[in-house]
Amino acid sequence: MIYKRSSALFAEAEKVIPGGVNSPVRAFKGVGGTPIFIKEAKGAYLYDEDGNRLVDYINSWGPMILGHAHKPVVDAVIEKAKKGTSFGTPTEIETKIAELAVSMVPNIDKIRFVNSGTEACMSAVRLARGFTGKDKIIKFAGCYHGHSDSFLIQAGSGASTFGTPNSPGVTQGTAKDTLLARYNDIENVKEIIEANKNEIACIIIEPVAGNMGCVPPKEGFLEGLRALCDTHNILLIFDEVMTGFRLAKGGAQELFGVKADLVCFGKVIGGGLPVGAFAARNEIMNYLAPLGPVYQAGTLSGNPLAMAAGLAMLTELNSDAQIFNRLAEKTEYLHQGIAKVLNENKVVHTINRTGSMISVHFDDREVVDFDTAANGNNDTFKTFFHGMLNQGVYIAPSAFETWFITDALTYEDLDFTINAVNEVAKTL
Ligand code: PMP
Repeated sequence: MIYKRSSALFAEAEKVIPGGVNSPVRAFKGVGGTPIFIKEAKGAYLYDEDGNRLVDYINSWGPMILGHAHKPVVDAVIEKAKKGTSFGTPTEIETKIAELAVSMVPNIDKIRFVNSGTEACMSAVRLARGFTGKDKIIKFAGCYHGHSDSFLIQAGSGASTFGTPNSPGVTQGTAKDTLLARYNDIENVKEIIEANKNEIACIIIEPVAGNMGCVPPKEGFLEGLRALCDTHNILLIFDEVMTGFRLAKGGAQELFGVKADLVCFGKVIGGGLPVGAFAARNEIMNYLAPLGPVYQAGTLSGNPLAMAAGLAMLTELNSDAQIFNRLAEKTEYLHQGIAKVLNENKVVHTINRTGSMISVHFDDREVVDFDTAANGNNDTFKTFFHGMLNQGVYIAPSAFETWFITDALTYEDLDFTINAVNEVAKTL
């Protein structure tokens, strides 16, 4: 494939935008080469500036669950835009989408809309700290909750009691309140809680991790966290920015039957417009300004365009009883197909999958946490990524990402993808 125009556009972008991108994951840093500039998208496909068609498995990092430029979403946004794009006042549509979200998601009474997943997680943690009167939080190595200071913390060798910042600009003072645990290791979480008795406000987790590839929770892990939280008066926060309205109508809480105290949502709600949300039972949400003392705000929060897109999106997800089964079936089909051709070509791999999230790791050991995800052969991944791109299939440019399956993908698209994997596998 030819990427002449993309390369020229990237060179221009680099002069005025740091690294040529407005979010680092887009920069192809991990795989080399220059990012592809997308001109437009429809359904399951992206069309780049050089006229190439790409079958899309990034889907704006999750939200395009119904495919790109989905007509009801686009129509809703156009109609709303004609009537004004922001008022900074309450609007009826905010209540409508809140009612719908509260009816779809278990264990929540109230929801507040924000503008991104980062804001949702940052606000949820502040609320958890305010509500419990405690400062420390537990997060898991390899889980991403946006770029706010408390979350940019990585483990030292193994999960350490006190995190050290992994970005300059995050202070030691902030880092010391973030405790790191190993995903899928309940004993490790217990030890951390014991060592920090009565100091932990919340545990925040991606109930299915999607930021170290796809890493599902082991059986009993989420239940174990719930029990520990109940015993120690800690709030359990599910970061459902990827899983919410994707794994089931009610997200991971519904799929696994485990109750969270606070739930964070993101991009899926807005069908691609900037939106996020956090939600909980009344007791917790009423602790938020203007009812309660914990402050949180936003000029564009509940923006009419984002709410219109969100209402169209959630209405469709709520009314299509089969969509989540359909997505899971397509993902299983892809899983089986890819496994078959990789095996035939003797490519060492492990595939992880939950619902419509799937990832291919180039290592044959189980992938259950960040360390095991990091075992994957990155050179093989790089070759795989560029090979797939050349075949017209766009997966995330990093081994530490999930592929997202959308309803717009047909079985022909899946076969096209499996065939592409087969061709690339011959070169690995
Ligand atoms: N939480 C999770 C689980 C995410 O995957 C992301 C982003 N991919 C975020 C939070 C942050 O969301 P945003 O990029 O919208 O700020």
